[in-house]
Amino acid sequence: MAEDSSRDPTGEPSGHDFSRNLLKTLFHRKSKGKPNGKKPPTEEKKQYLEVEYTKVRVVDFDLKELVVLPREIDLNEWLASNTTTFFNLINLQYSTISEFCTGDTCQAMTACNTVYYWYDEKGKKTKCTAPQYVDFVMSLVQKLVTDEDIFPTKYGKEFPNAFETLVKKICRYLFHVLAHIYWSHYRESVAMDLHGHLNTLYTHFIVFIREFNLVDPKETSIMDDLSEVLCTPLPPAQNHVTER
Ligand SMILES: [Zn+2]
Repeated sequence: MAEDSSRDPTGEPSGHDFSRNLLKTLFHRKSKGKPNGKKPPTEEKKQYLEVEYTKVRVVDFDLKELVVLPREIDLNEWLASNTTTFFNLINLQYSTISEFCTGDTCQAMTACNTVYYWYDEKGKKTKCTAPQYVDFVMSLVQKLVTDEDIFPTKYGKEFPNAFETLVKKICRYLFHVLAHIYWSHYRESVAMDLHGHLNTLYTHFIVFIREFNLVDPKETSIMDDLSEVLCTPLPPAQNHVTER
């Protein structure tokens, strides 16, 4: 349930030609209808799009190989195990910056020009801070993935009819968390040298949700600029895989 504001999501041109061209394209596309193209004072440049940062990953192989349904594996089993893993990894990645994500620093759950509102069990829309939103997401997902009736682990137990719908819902929420980390806590991730992990996790997640059409592309379009850069394999000369 994203609500777009009228903020222009473009950033300042960076020192890199590649980023500059990318931003130019974005600016041209997104600023249509704005007569003076003036940026609001709160606008920040998208540091996460700079080549210096996007080239940092922790693996150097095509992540698509990891997400394709293996032969002899049931689709629901595959979706269940991957969804549970992404939940754990994204929860962990968020925990690395959670001390910087407070009710003061992040008064709303934002990513780019989008504000996410939480809808409670009765469908009531609530505006909440980003840490509250993430807490709602993680509590809900934790409850779902540990519910034996929804994510069965015992042999012979069937997945419910609503399984795919619930997986889509979980992935949509997890995307919001990743988008918020990039938009509001990228600097802190870089300061802790965790952006390589973030880039790899994000890319892995995006190729997974694309492979099984789990999130509406309209929902993820706010991060398309980054997705395109990260999902394109690096030329060998630029490959700066972090050694751990
Ligand atoms: Zn935050």
